[in-house]
Amino acid sequence: MNLKQAKSELHLHLDGSIRPSSLLEICKEKNISIPATSLQEVTRLMEVPENCDSLNTYLKRFDLPLMILQDGESIERVTYELAEDLTKEGIEYGEIRFAPFYSTKNGLTQEMVTKAAINGAKKAMKNHPNIRIGLILCCMRGLDEDINLETVKVCSNLLGDVVCAIDLAGAEALYPTSDYKYIFDKAKDAHIPFTIHAGEAAGPESIYSALEFGTKRIGHGVRCIEDSNLMKQLKEREIILEVCPTSNCQTFPLKKASLHPIRKLFDSGIKITLNTDNRTVSHTSLNKEIELLKNEFGFTESEFDTIWKNAQEARFLK
Ligand SMILES: [Zn+2]
Repeated sequence: MNLKQAKSELHLHLDGSIRPSSLLEICKEKNISIPATSLQEVTRLMEVPENCDSLNTYLKRFDLPLMILQDGESIERVTYELAEDLTKEGIEYGEIRFAPFYSTKNGLTQEMVTKAAINGAKKAMKNHPNIRIGLILCCMRGLDEDINLETVKVCSNLLGDVVCAIDLAGAEALYPTSDYKYIFDKAKDAHIPFTIHAGEAAGPESIYSALEFGTKRIGHGVRCIEDSNLMKQLKEREIILEVCPTSNCQTFPLKKASLHPIRKLFDSGIKITLNTDNRTVSHTSLNKEIELLKNEFGFTESEFDTIWKNAQEARFLK
């Protein structure tokens, strides 16, 4: 009998996936002043407009979330709620990522931020035993070396049954992946698994750098489509791409979702996984991404099984 593969999500940012209603409640409770008072206005500031015209428009959506991610209680709450949102979709394994440094504006250390998120994840797993949550700590392009190395250190200290890896995120076109070798040298020394955002805003050269660092997983990686030799390498080395179709369409931006290369990537034999990236910002869910793949690209049940199997193979927590 062919057992159905468990639904998993490997690429999901905490700050881009906060419930607007929770953000509004937290602002009221903590007296955080924001330029919106109604749920409708808050939602408008957190979601990309219908026709997202640039990466800048997209990135503006993180301003409000980062205002509330500055105390342990709020970080714990939104981590818990995001895990809960995954369970509602029947997801059995999810890796949530965030940049601890971005929550240190009011005095929290990166370690305190991460511990708050661990508490939220653990509480969610206790109340919803069907889901397993991993946390990935993001180093950020454009930050000072000592800050990113602190993120690696915190990850090394807390690596275990929840904290599972590091990532490199941020403005890829402005800060080339090749500048961040120091992060992955340290990660390898400390035996920390990692994934790297590459080949989204920048082209194949960014993916080549990530491969040189020894990554097994790439966040997005969709611009490998511009280089057939690179595609061949990704296939041969069985690199996992964490593809986020709706988000990719908004940040490229693509005029139509049907122009996304996901069908071509899948048919080429590259191992892809399906993810949301930022659920609130992109107004999406894993179920919506599944519908997109069915309706626009004709993905079949057995092809979805391959996608979930890829995710099971690539997950950081076994
Ligand atoms: Zn991402």
